[in-house]
Amino acid sequence: MAEVIDLNKRQAKERRIRQGRARRRAQAVASALSCGLCPRRCAHCGMPIEGPPLPDLSAPYPFCQPCQEEYRAYKRWEEGLREPEAYWHTAAWADMWRHWLDHMRAADAFRASAEFLRLMQENQD
Ligand SMILES: [Zn+2]
Repeated sequence: MAEVIDLNKRQAKERRIRQGRARRRAQAVASALSCGLCPRRCAHCGMPIEGPPLPDLSAPYPFCQPCQEEYRAYKRWEEGLREPEAYWHTAAWADMWRHWLDHMRAADAFRASAEFLRLMQENQD
């Protein structure tokens, strides 16, 4: 009989551990994407944007001045103007921008999903 009680206690403890892990995992996903985009913080480097927001309707996200210049250089690169404006403007640099923009679009799509909304509702502090 004591063995049955021990087994039940152990199963209950393991269930609590699993539920705790699942909760922390859900909170990590929610917090990683919950801040979205702050108009006063550069979406690319995370630095605060000083001064008035830069009005660039062609930029999909708020950028600080240097990142906005890099984004424009990347767009020129993608249009075929491959004269490097800086030594780091290489195929790997363009690939980094391409994948970063893909990542941002995927995060936007996930944020707009019903599952993410549910995740946020269940994990609000
Ligand atoms: Zn920046």
